[in-house]
This record gives sequence, structure tokens and C-alpha cells, in this order.
Amino acid sequence: MALVKCPGCGERISSMAKQCSHCKANISADNESLQVISHIKRSNQLMNQSFLALTLFIGGVVTWFWGGEPAEGTRATVAGGAFALGFVGYLITRVQIVLHKRKKV
Ligand SMILES: [Zn+2]
Repeated sequence: MALVKCPGCGERISSMAKQCSHCKANISADNESLQVISHIKRSNQLMNQSFLALTLFIGGVVTWFWGGEPAEGTRATVAGGAFALGFVGYLITRVQIVLHKRKKV
């Protein structure tokens, strides 16, 4: 166990400590930036996911109304499936994004 200098107040504290016992500053700076990176990565991932779901949703709508005629048979199944999947997927992703944003880094 080594002693390190606190970046907040300069007092010597244990390198094992996650928080300075003097000023309560967060010591694990490397760990913290890793968390920030993974947070941003997750944000991007969720944005891609919502974009994909939205594309699926729009694709379903377009397929359904293609040619101005109501969809029938296989086209109706494919369009309805994409529509429903995209819609549900988009909603779920939006909820995930809101929950993710609430999380403190
Ligand atoms: Zn300190």
C-alpha cells in the first residue's frame, strides 16, 4: 500500500483509497476517465440503436404504403413486423437513453 498525493488538497493519502479522507475528492482519476469513456461509448451505442429502430419503423411504414395500395400477404407481414419491431425497439431505446443520462458519471 503506497501513499499518494491527493490531487484536490495535496495531503498524503493511501493509493487504495477511492476518496480523499481530507477533502473528499475522488482520487481514482484514471478509473474516473475510464468511466466517462464507457459512458460516452454507451451513449453512442444507444443513439445507433435508436437510429436503427427508427429506420426499421420508417421502413415498415414505407413498405406498408408502397404504391398507394394496402399491403397484403407477405408484404403486410414484413411491413407490420418491421413497423412493430421498430416502434417497440425505438421506445425501449429512448427509455434506456433517459435512464442512461440520469446516471451520474
Ligand atoms: Zn484531498
